[in-house]
Amino acid sequence: MRILKTSTTTYLFLVSTIGIIISFAFNTFPQHSLSEWLTIFALAGSILLLNHYPILLPPKGNSLSMDSSIFLACLFLFGLNITLYVLLINAILFSFTQRNIIWWKHVFNFAIYSLMIILAYYAFIFTGGKTGGIHIQNIIPYLISLSTYFVINVILIGIYFILAASESLMDVLKGIIKETIATYISTLMLSLVLVILMNAEKTLGLFLFTCISFLLSLAFKQHFHLFKEISEKANKDFLTGLNNHGYFKELLEKEVAAAKDSERPLSLVLLDIDDFKKYNDLYGHIQGDHLLQEFGALLKSEAERKNFTVARYGGEEFSIFMPNTNRKTAYSFMNELRKKANNTYYKGVEGLPYGCMSFSAGIAECEKETYSISELLNKADQAMYAAKDQGKNLVQIYNEHSEYTVGRSLSLEKGLDEAEQQLKIFLSKDVYTYRHSKRVYQYAVDFSRMLNLSEHERKTLILGALIHDIGKIEIPRDILNKKGKLEPHEWEMMKKHVTWGKEIISTNKKLEELIPLVELHHERYDGNGYPYGLKGKSIPKLARILCVIDSFDAMTTERPYQKTKTFKEAIVELRACAGKQFDPQFVGPFITMIKQLDNTCEESEEKVLSYANK
Ligand code: GH3
Ligand code: MG
Ligand code: MG
Repeated sequence: MRILKTSTTTYLFLVSTIGIIISFAFNTFPQHSLSEWLTIFALAGSILLLNHYPILLPPKGNSLSMDSSIFLACLFLFGLNITLYVLLINAILFSFTQRNIIWWKHVFNFAIYSLMIILAYYAFIFTGGKTGGIHIQNIIPYLISLSTYFVINVILIGIYFILAASESLMDVLKGIIKETIATYISTLMLSLVLVILMNAEKTLGLFLFTCISFLLSLAFKQHFHLFKEISEKANKDFLTGLNNHGYFKELLEKEVAAAKDSERPLSLVLLDIDDFKKYNDLYGHIQGDHLLQEFGALLKSEAERKNFTVARYGGEEFSIFMPNTNRKTAYSFMNELRKKANNTYYKGVEGLPYGCMSFSAGIAECEKETYSISELLNKADQAMYAAKDQGKNLVQIYNEHSEYTVGRSLSLEKGLDEAEQQLKIFLSKDVYTYRHSKRVYQYAVDFSRMLNLSEHERKTLILGALIHDIGKIEIPRDILNKKGKLEPHEWEMMKKHVTWGKEIISTNKKLEELIPLVELHHERYDGNGYPYGLKGKSIPKLARILCVIDSFDAMTTERPYQKTKTFKEAIVELRACAGKQFDPQFVGPFITMIKQLDNTCEESEEKVLSYANK
């Protein structure tokens, strides 16, 4: 049980005492007739029943109980004395049936109702209201009486909330008024309906009112449960049962606003399972789904212990927000979680690169200047990708001084630098391929200016050109440097460089878009290329372009197993192979570009050298 503060206890005691004293002071004990007693018990019984069957209203399930309608109708029909008796008998019956409610709440409730009823009655009388029946001229007193009933309720309950929950006066008033005004207007109308019914036929009127209210309660209950069920479904992810992306963002929006208002910390985490595609590829999507479910359950149980909120952000990505948690605490939590995931056995994880279940996570802490949740999500995302870049199975805190490449997208300048550095190291054993890659890159820079490519395609082509042969790192030196023709088995191995290249760059999410260039630049337009034998337009456009550039450079530079062609000879060869090896639409423009570079097309050796020095 929550410990109440002294001020709250004093308030409860005061209101209860005043309410009870006034109630009994007004309760003169007149001799009621048997029929009046029957009416009192019937009304009290009806309230008891309808309190048990309130009308639940979506979205929060606020209940519209009919008790106030019956008290007011009773007040307008029979006056104060009988109404207070109805209240007293109802309160006694209620406290017997609801013994799980703590006693002082029963007393406080009774006192509040007494004060509301008594003051509403005098407001009715002082404004000229006449009890006994329904009178149209009573409309103003009815309204004033109800308003008084409502205002007293708001004040007495409001003070309780202010004292008990330390909320601000305005917030409490706004909250209560917003949530109860419609209810109270319905209450007045229903009380007038009851007055009319009971005025026409007392017992039957009350019976009909109670039955209708009861049936309404059942109907609304079903409606409310249906509403809850559907909103639950709309907010949950079907596979893992966690909150879904949309609902998570809704909750995060509120939490961020609250954290900023109260100046309390809040951290946001985005995490992405490492190499999940590989897991799916190894064991199939169904087992992949199981892993997502099991991992989701681990996240949920760990986060719930700390009152954190988890969601499936999408695919194999999850998100967590952590109220009252700064980035350091968030980091410790996530690192523990990471270790726990590593140490928990999930079926088949031995097939993953780390031999265990692992994830990469990014943390961003909400700051005063945080403008929107998108900004926060973006920071967590960048940190997560930084964790991926550093080798995965890592937790990374967002640091505004770090320079992140824009999350998932390709950045030409940074990408080029990185790719060139890696290329240099990777291909140090194969200087020819390194230089070839740089020349192909330069051709791609020039050629992409001539073609009608989007900015994104241009960047992809240029970067792809630079690293297209990265898979050659896997080829043994003796094959790479062999003078003379390759044996069939050596040639088969050489051809594998496209697949190995794809595997190498697949480990870096940022290079994902370069995969078609790396893997498919040896496909031929006529379908006789490798690795798949794709034909015509089924080969991605950029791979078809790269094929022309790559082949031209291969023809015109010295290779261990092939005679060098002059530019002129190579142009003849390009033309001859247009429509066979090459997409003809790119052969013409490429030849034009080469001719612009070299008007004579004859001093091929010199040209190659000057190109290689770029
Ligand atoms: P990284 O370590 O860089 O995150 O690599 P990854 O393989 O985890 O990431 P990638 O984005 O390449 O692949 C994610 C995979 O997640 C691809 C997709 O098929 C799979 N996936 C997404 N949603 C579901 C799902 O609901 N069920 C299953 N089984 N797989 C899913
Ligand atoms: Mg992912
Ligand atoms: Mg992943």
